[in-house]
Amino acid sequence: MRADNLEILDRITLAELEKALDANTREKVEPDRWTAFSWSVSRHKMFEDCKRRYYLNYYGARRVREAKSPAISAVWWLKQVTLLRTWIGTVIHHVAGLAVQAHRDEKQVNEKGLIDEATRYYREGLLASERAAKHEGQWVVLFEHLYPGERFSVDRDAAEALVVDLTRTFLESDGYGFIKSLPPQAVREVDPPFQSFEMIDVPVVGKLRIFAIPDVLLHDGKAIYIIDWKTGDPASENIHWQAGVYRLYAHEAYKLPAESIHVAIAALEDTGESVDPPGGVPSLEDTRAFIGTSAQAMLDRLEDVALNTAAIASFPMTDDLEMCQQCGFKRACWRHE
Ligand code: SF4
Repeated sequence: MRADNLEILDRITLAELEKALDANTREKVEPDRWTAFSWSVSRHKMFEDCKRRYYLNYYGARRVREAKSPAISAVWWLKQVTLLRTWIGTVIHHVAGLAVQAHRDEKQVNEKGLIDEATRYYREGLLASERAAKHEGQWVVLFEHLYPGERFSVDRDAAEALVVDLTRTFLESDGYGFIKSLPPQAVREVDPPFQSFEMIDVPVVGKLRIFAIPDVLLHDGKAIYIIDWKTGDPASENIHWQAGVYRLYAHEAYKLPAESIHVAIAALEDTGESVDPPGGVPSLEDTRAFIGTSAQAMLDRLEDVALNTAAIASFPMTDDLEMCQQCGFKRACWRHE
């Protein structure tokens, strides 16, 4: 199915693809909970990186079943693409989640069992991607399989050893040690899927749904501690704003003052030490202002804000070809040849 759906991109031109996408993303249909405008830090980052990538990801493939268009289905597949490096991060988040849930449920975690689980999950994901199949109910589409001529995002032969190393670092990390030092009932949230909260008084739209999914949220009765596992660079600027959004979420959801909400980054690619987000955790006011400005820039490019429709011409491709190198959408931009 994957190869069949993608094959259309070898038979049409960029102009034909853009026409099909435009017809879909400009269609005036009342938005539902899946297609309404919302905001997240990852959405902000994609918007800043490349407007076309943002469009393809958040608009191009939406309502794919209703569209009944092979070109839209092809873009949907490209939206699923993930780098091997990112897949390794997903594996580590999976086993970290299991270990934290085990503490909450007062169960033992043994190192060998967790490493075996990380290795199994990693290998099965790889196999699913190779076979164009689902892994535990989710599609895994590795960039390295879709674009086999490209260099791997991590050394393929060393990738499995990296999974094992990162799992060990997680087990020895400050963050995991801290979690185990608290009573099990302090664990309130472990990577809750699709979690969001509403921000009010946002210019143009009024209410805005913000997605915020902390890896771990702990509440000891007096304060909240949020821990984010990072298998990549812990100094990226987005982590600063991600920490602000987590704090804002916790403030809204648990009604605690900002001073009682702490966010730590567990730098697993390094020694597993807990570090402050780069530049610290921004204030609630600064975070609200940042979200408002970012959302406004996104809304300014829409054709119809109320219906959340978008014209592809308002979302140009980046001039930074380096950025296209490891972008899953490059077949839809004709930047893969
Ligand atoms: S291939 Fe390049 S231009 Fe196209 S979406 Fe990706 S980053 Fe943007």
